[in-house]
Amino acid sequence: MYVEDTIAAIGTPVGEGGIGVIRVSGPDAPAIARRIVRRGNENGDFESHRFYYGMVMDPDTADSVDEVMAVLMVSPRSYTREDVLEIQCHGGYLVTRRVLDAVLRCGARLAEPGEFTRRAFLNGRIDLVQAEAVIDVIRSKTEAALSLAQHQREGRLSERLDAVQGSLRHGLALIEAFIDFPEEEVDSATQGEIEARAREALARIDELLDGFDEGRVLREGVSVLIAGKPNVGKSSLLNTLLREKRAIVTSVPGTTRDIIEEVVNVRGLPLRMLDTAGIRETEDIVEQEGVRLTLEKIPQADLILFVLDGSRPYDDDDRMILDALAGRRSIVVVNKSDLPASLCLPGDLEGVRNVPISTATGAGIDDLREAIFDTFIHGHAIDSREYVALSQARHRDALEKARGRIVVFLENLAVGHELEILAVDLRDALDAVGEVTGETTPDDILDMIFQRFCIGK
Ligand code: GDP
Repeated sequence: MYVEDTIAAIGTPVGEGGIGVIRVSGPDAPAIARRIVRRGNENGDFESHRFYYGMVMDPDTADSVDEVMAVLMVSPRSYTREDVLEIQCHGGYLVTRRVLDAVLRCGARLAEPGEFTRRAFLNGRIDLVQAEAVIDVIRSKTEAALSLAQHQREGRLSERLDAVQGSLRHGLALIEAFIDFPEEEVDSATQGEIEARAREALARIDELLDGFDEGRVLREGVSVLIAGKPNVGKSSLLNTLLREKRAIVTSVPGTTRDIIEEVVNVRGLPLRMLDTAGIRETEDIVEQEGVRLTLEKIPQADLILFVLDGSRPYDDDDRMILDALAGRRSIVVVNKSDLPASLCLPGDLEGVRNVPISTATGAGIDDLREAIFDTFIHGHAIDSREYVALSQARHRDALEKARGRIVVFLENLAVGHELEILAVDLRDALDAVGEVTGETTPDDILDMIFQRFCIGK
């Protein structure tokens, strides 16, 4: 349900800045431009895609509101494919509000979160994968996450999905041709062709699903817990990691994660450091309590850095933590390599990757970063122009559904099921892929997706 009214919002963040942008989209945008933007002696229509210097006037009192630059982008050459007006005014909290207010009083409605991008999607300028990538571009915290999001926004993932759909449609067309002529038997050459198209789609889906784990960790980051008994050097390690190439620290207001997260950037992989406050506090807490606190956090982490003190013998506290790590993805970090070694690693740590480091001298820290990166990214050039990956659980789920339907289709094809049933299998698979690209995505899912956007995007 897409009402073609005119929407408006402030497109820049709330606060003080050099400029603020008010964005307007819909059929009334040209009239609003003429009504509130006074351009010296120039009257009449705005030329499309031309910047005008002028003043925004209050539509009721004709008082001047602010000195601005304004541009009208006439449909379809705009972000939403509708007529779009963008007004650049001074970037203050009140002044942007007043310009927006002038626009709203000319009949525009305040936009919902993500509504501009939603219109771009509904008007077919971008598909849903590209629309979702817009928010990922805005939220990216590392270069690698940004480049993944940009590739998706440019449509590289969409191209791969198009190819899957192409194979499925081709197979479906072959089947439907025979449904239309029931007197004809499906010959073995055609049957082979249909099967080949389905297998081609399957292989393409598998390739995308294979890349999901990497895509997801690049997009969402991984949670890392530094575990170890007191005094092994956990806070020293945290500080060393934070000091190097610190990623943008984020706060996520209004959610349960309403905290400042400490994010470490390891070659483009965002590491969210769990319980960093806890690590620092354990110095004041009796030893056993500190160990217990660490143990509680273990299940929440994607990766545990198990820190041992290389200058002290392995003891029961270390063993207690090691027992809790069973089955968890971990790297053993042997700290204090600058001191004489007296640690003897127990037999059950054989085979687990261990990295000697010294937070005091910095020795081994690069190896540790390498080990962390290798745990999640397997030999792909994630910074290459060619890197395309699936990164959202919603996309993965839909493609797994499509995959399941194709597998059933191939089984039914092999045992010679009726053509109508075969066609249904393939159509279901196509619909599942369409949920990713937006062709068959239900409205409530669309609502959920665009709710994640900011107002004005
Ligand atoms: P935590 O209790 O595990 O967080 O340990 P800390 O990071 O507070 O370190 C405990 C003590 O070990 C401090 O006195 C640190 O200065 C010292 N320390 C940490 N890393 C090293 C290291 O690599 N070499 C040496 N010689 N001392 C270290």
